[in-house]
Amino acid sequence: MKILVCVKQVPDTNEVKIDPVKGTLIREGVPSILNPDDANALEAALQLKDKDPDTKIAVLTMGPPQATYMLRECLAMGADEAYLLSDRAFGGADTCATSTTIAAGIKKVGNVDLVFAGRQAIDGDTAQVGPQVAQRLNMPVVTYVKDIKAETGKVTVQRQMEDGYEIIEVQTPCLLTCVKELNEPRYMSVGAIVDAYQKEITVWGHDQVELDPKDCGLNASPTQVFRSFTPPQKGKGEMLSGSVGEIAAALVSKLNEKHLLKKEG
Ligand SMILES: Cc1cc2nc3c(=O)[nH]c(=O)nc-3n(C[C@H](O)[C@H](O)[C@H](O)COP(=O)(O)OP(=O)(O)OC[C@H]3O[C@@H](n4cnc5c(N)ncnc54)[C@H](O)[C@@H]3O)c2cc1C
Repeated sequence: MKILVCVKQVPDTNEVKIDPVKGTLIREGVPSILNPDDANALEAALQLKDKDPDTKIAVLTMGPPQATYMLRECLAMGADEAYLLSDRAFGGADTCATSTTIAAGIKKVGNVDLVFAGRQAIDGDTAQVGPQVAQRLNMPVVTYVKDIKAETGKVTVQRQMEDGYEIIEVQTPCLLTCVKELNEPRYMSVGAIVDAYQKEITVWGHDQVELDPKDCGLNASPTQVFRSFTPPQKGKGEMLSGSVGEIAAALVSKLNEKHLLKKEG
């Protein structure tokens, strides 16, 4: 079985701070990381490989050359092959153009039984790319997957819902988008990190994946971000003091002033 995992390098949004004076995002020094849901997707693929060592795992990303660091991290976790789709023509892509390029890359890799993606990337936050890639590859897709059992020619998955889960059986090849509840991603070992630096990373531009520049990147993006801004900061909190009874009374009175408490009856 061959599994391809779509992985994205993202800024660690836990580390992004807002400049209190200018009100803009402070990006300097913010580390780039493997998107957390994608780490769960890769771990799911690695667990299937643990059960069936004949399984081959490829990781694929579209991004700038520095995304190779993240791909090496994936190789050090246990992936067998890594592909980087990198070309100026791919820049400025919205989810529509991103998925066109990723689907072209997956077609070029070829003979893939399962495609995994994260549920969503923590920077763009749209959760659109996985389903759009599936549509372009004409594959069935199951989103929000929290458990995967693979058999020959099919997988049985649990799809997370707000109030429970669905069990879905789907034929392969198919695409699954994975949530963090699926597993706990493994750490890289020192030996595997050293080996990862010996492995080749295949880099493809638009020519290699047979995409015309007019069909990718900004040129093929139906949406464009018109303006971005930081949301207004929350007001300063207020600490109440006094005995427990006084604090409770002051709290109830403040909530009442704002009509936040519902009267019984
Ligand atoms: C400067 C800038 C301008 C932008 N302008 C626009 C715009 O005008 N309109 C718009 O819609 N978007 C815009 N974006 C967002 C951009 O389109 C998204 O970052 C990108 O399309 C992926 O969407 P997402 O991050 O929401 O991924 P999601 O759909 O949330 O990601 C789901 C999963 O898809 C896979 N995936 C996503 N991206 C990649 C990737 N590059 N490589 C491999 N796998 C991937 C991963 O498995 C990920 O977990 C802009 C981004 C930047 C930085």
